[in-house]
Amino acid sequence: MTVLYKYSQFLAQSKDAAFDSICEPGSIAQWSGIYRCDGCGRSITSIVGNQLPPQNHHQHTLQQGRVRWRLAACHFIVVNFAAAIIEGLTIQRMEHVGIVVDNLGGAIKFFVEPGLSLQGEAAAEGRWVDRIVWL
Ligand SMILES: [Zn+2]
Repeated sequence: MTVLYKYSQFLAQSKDAAFDSICEPGSIAQWSGIYRCDGCGRSITSIVGNQLPPQNHHQHTLQQGRVRWRLAACHFIVVNFAAAIIEGLTIQRMEHVGIVVDNLGGAIKFFVEPGLSLQGEAAAEGRWVDRIVWL
């Protein structure tokens, strides 16, 4: 079964490795989006952090093997900012983006190397920050 769409301008092709990995039934979805069973082609939707449907979600023939989910379409993957720039897509404007990282220097380098510029740095902490970034 194929995932259908009408307006192609709402979709963009990605070469992200997230689309290559097989997700076990009952595992936690790493991305919000549409997952497709590699065995039979059935599609489901899931939200990041939710459990993907279990093995008994639907029946397979012996030839189809076990249920195994593969990401078919998802919301924009943050790390694709760099890939989009490299592939010639231009990000016109980006306002406030909050990203929680362990290594701030490494994260800055990751976004600056493909062409984004650092406008400034500021420290923020406290309950209101935790609430904004969902900690
Ligand atoms: Zn299936």
